[in-house]
Amino acid sequence: MTASPSYRDTYDAIIVGARCAGASTALLLARAGARVLVIDRQALGSDRISTHALMRGGVLQLLRWGLLPKILAAQTPRITQTVFHYGDEDIRIDIKPEHGVEFLCAPRRTVLDRILVEAAVEAGADVRHNVSLGTLIKRPDGRVTGVTLQDPAFGSVTVRAGIVIGADGRQSMVARQVGASTYAVGRHFAGVAYRYFDGIHDQGSRWFFKPGASAGVVPTNDGQHCVFVCIPKSEIASKIMHNIADGYHAALTENSETLSREIEGARPSGRITGFAGAPGHMRTSQGRGWALVGDAGYFKDPLTAHGMTDALRDAEILARAVLQGNERALALYQEERDALSHKLFAITDRIASFQWDMADIRSLHMGLQAVMKSEVDHMASVAPRMPIAA
Ligand SMILES: Cc1cc2nc3c(=O)[nH]c(=O)nc-3n(C[C@H](O)[C@H](O)[C@H](O)COP(=O)(O)OP(=O)(O)OC[C@H]3O[C@@H](n4cnc5c(N)ncnc54)[C@H](O)[C@@H]3O)c2cc1C
Repeated sequence: MTASPSYRDTYDAIIVGARCAGASTALLLARAGARVLVIDRQALGSDRISTHALMRGGVLQLLRWGLLPKILAAQTPRITQTVFHYGDEDIRIDIKPEHGVEFLCAPRRTVLDRILVEAAVEAGADVRHNVSLGTLIKRPDGRVTGVTLQDPAFGSVTVRAGIVIGADGRQSMVARQVGASTYAVGRHFAGVAYRYFDGIHDQGSRWFFKPGASAGVVPTNDGQHCVFVCIPKSEIASKIMHNIADGYHAALTENSETLSREIEGARPSGRITGFAGAPGHMRTSQGRGWALVGDAGYFKDPLTAHGMTDALRDAEILARAVLQGNERALALYQEERDALSHKLFAITDRIASFQWDMADIRSLHMGLQAVMKSEVDHMASVAPRMPIAA
């Protein structure tokens, strides 16, 4: 086994969390020549709870960063069609080429996060897994100047940086330690339960809605489909916490008997995974010597399947701001993120309430489509001011 090289004393940026938000930010900063350290307490290539769907904005980022061929080479299917089932009515939508994006995809986290990390390493970032954040180091005036880390190879390590970025997820320790305030909180949230299946005929991604019920089928790697159900808050205890297998199957049947029969004819792979839900948040995501990206700064209910797309989007906005190297640029990062996110946050919260009828949900989806379209137009219009492709 090769021994890990020791750490530099100082980096331009230290990033806590090496997944869609952290690894992407690292790869963009490293491609622009910054000295970047990324740590993650989990193992390289480990799984993460997710139903995998990337929206057009997420795919656009992978395309711009030159990573889409690697995602496809990992047996990730192209999604060229999506179907919305509103009760008995089906609306089929072909994915039209726009901004160079010709299809959507839904890579497993074991695939996506690893490819992002490998690209960051290739760009020169120093990435260490199985290493945890200890504490943030602050000057007496509160400015963050570094971190202490817990590394199994070196014990407690102190490293300095121009900026410490928390890409450490919804329950961010960086957010806690800098005292990041929360200025928007979701009022509603749903539970999720999902399982992978072999042997489902690929019809693209499919989303099922009925009053009080929602489910989806997403084609992912190695010929498998991720089949999920979303469970209203009032039913999480009875359906996910009590007996997840019964709850999952009951929720599937409630959503669509056709889908339920389809599952009966397929081969399950692995166990059912459950998520008991959590309210969305928008946190102050920058300050002196620190920033937050991904779920650490902005989280919303997974029901609109947009968290990874947000993370890939905001990684680029943040990297651009960090490279400008001043506090004004960081403040503008948060403003741009929020301008792109407020409507998504509000619509997601409405959908997660499950207080809609079929006309409402269709109009919420049309609103979502419009917001996502302007998001993608905005991202595509921003001329890269840094080397975003390898
Ligand atoms: C059930 C469910 C389904 C979802 N489905 C979708 C979907 O279909 N599409 C979509 O776009 N989004 C989906 N999401 C949302 C998506 O998973 C998140 O938005 C995304 O993972 C955020 O990425 P991130 O990099 O910010 O954080 P994370 O993926 O949470 O990664 C944070 C990393 O930080 C590390 N870390 C945390 N604390 C420390 C520490 N102290 N020291 C070192 N490392 C640390 C963790 O180990 C972790 O690897 C779903 C979420 C859930 C819960």
